[in-house]
Amino acid sequence: MKLIIFGPQGSGKGTQAELIARRRNIPYISTGDIFRYNLKQQTGLGEKIAEYVNQGLLVPDELTNEVVNDRLNQPDCVTGFILDGYPRNQFQLDFLIRLHAIDWAVVIELDDLEAIKRLGGRLACKCGLSYHLQFNPPTQPNICNKCGGELFKREDDQAAAIKQRLAIYHEQTEPLINFFDQQHKLILVNGNQSIEDVYQEIDKKLAAKEGRI
Ligand code: ADP
Ligand code: ADP
Ligand code: ZN
Repeated sequence: MKLIIFGPQGSGKGTQAELIARRRNIPYISTGDIFRYNLKQQTGLGEKIAEYVNQGLLVPDELTNEVVNDRLNQPDCVTGFILDGYPRNQFQLDFLIRLHAIDWAVVIELDDLEAIKRLGGRLACKCGLSYHLQFNPPTQPNICNKCGGELFKREDDQAAAIKQRLAIYHEQTEPLINFFDQQHKLILVNGNQSIEDVYQEIDKKLAAKEGRI
């Protein structure tokens, strides 16, 4: 199954995408995680993208499309994938749909104020999992349950960069949702529930769309 997950920053895309990927045995692909990994490892790609990521600006489309294309051509993506953080604008959407038939687009709805509150307490891990100081704490303080890595606050999770990223989301990414709506491939879920309830809503709606119930 080929899925995309949309929603404003802080709506829980990464959290839900990881659950969906694990339970359906498909790879979870986050362009943000790929970029952060390259920044940390100081790769050639990392050097090219640093100024954009650190300011909360979009990395140029050609570069982003190439990175995604390489990842989706890996053998583990043959049976499906879930994309988080891509596509973010019309140019990226056009590129993606020429190459892959997307089955469903899941949209997590949450207002900006709620999203900002969540990002203030977000703790990230290099493996892609994210936690929250109150809403989803790790079992051991500051240690990832899955990989044992040390958790960190993302540099772009501070007020100015969050505002910038939310503005770009509303302006450039949200309009892409129409495309999937017109194709009857849209799954809207209420993000203002517990992590497990959001997951249950997604799973139920996916099952209904697939004709499983
Ligand atoms: P968020 O969704 O919270 O902004 P991500 O982890 O998805 O964070 O992305 C972090 C940063 O990586 C973005 O601010 C941007 O600089 C870059 N990035 C991620 N995905 C894309 C994309 N599809 N196109 C361009 N830049 C991207
Ligand atoms: P996104 O990928 O959309 O930016 P994340 O999945 O990283 O969002 O979630 C943002 C923050 O909110 C994280 O700290 C996460 O643990 C927390 N979170 C995610 N879903 C929920 C939820 N349903 N209720 C409360 N907190 C949540
Ligand atoms: Zn981890």
